[in-house]
Amino acid sequence: MPHPEVPSDRGEFYGAVAEWVAKTYDKDRYNQFKETLHPQLSERLENADPAGWYPVEDSRIIYENMAECFGDGGLTDFVHFYVSRSIHGFIRGLVAFISPLGLAKRALALWNRFHSTGRPQIEIVDKNHGTITLYDWNYSPIHCKVHALWFAELVRVAGGKNPVVEETHCVHRGDEFCRWEVSFE
Ligand SMILES: [Zn+2]
Repeated sequence: MPHPEVPSDRGEFYGAVAEWVAKTYDKDRYNQFKETLHPQLSERLENADPAGWYPVEDSRIIYENMAECFGDGGLTDFVHFYVSRSIHGFIRGLVAFISPLGLAKRALALWNRFHSTGRPQIEIVDKNHGTITLYDWNYSPIHCKVHALWFAELVRVAGGKNPVVEETHCVHRGDEFCRWEVSFE
């Protein structure tokens, strides 16, 4: 699939959303959520090509509507679901012996398989503390929130306890990049 012209995410995201909503809520709730979306976007939940590219702008709408329909707890639960689903694919087998920040580093190395723009860099400060900086990504505050949930979940999956992820720099507050401090026990 050629590189997209607008900033994009892979279509597998839409299937993951549909799967999560269907598994977590009943059919009525799923239909209510679909009704919050533009018909084209609502259909995409079921028809997206997992390997296709779709505009980042659309993932913003999906995340915002998910937060609206299912609350912040819903977003957290979705990320938990999506990370465990992905782990079974691309980094299965690593989680048993890799450190939490090591896992985050491996996962971030795959960033551009899933996003057409953005350059993440991780700096490991010590065993339980690191920073993750994302360059060339300036789309929406909800993406910043979802990224923080992903980082916490990756740490947790690799055995880090009580992860705390705080966004210390943000393009939506005038910084040149977004940066998260990640620490855990
Ligand atoms: Zn940000």
